[in-house]
Amino acid sequence: MVLLMKEEISERMLKILVCPSDKSKLEYNEKKTHLICSTCGNKYEVKDGIPVFLD
Ligand SMILES: [Zn+2]
Repeated sequence: MVLLMKEEISERMLKILVCPSDKSKLEYNEKKTHLICSTCGNKYEVKDGIPVFLD
């Protein structure tokens, strides 16, 4: 139940999140541990369903 809710929030967040560098769409990797930019390939770690954007 908790996991499903987290997943739902993540999917919703994903639609409004963009790469900080080039404003491109972000996608989950296979294990859903990171978001990957479709343009520059940058990876952003996802902790508890929240992406961490670090310079
Ligand atoms: Zn990018």
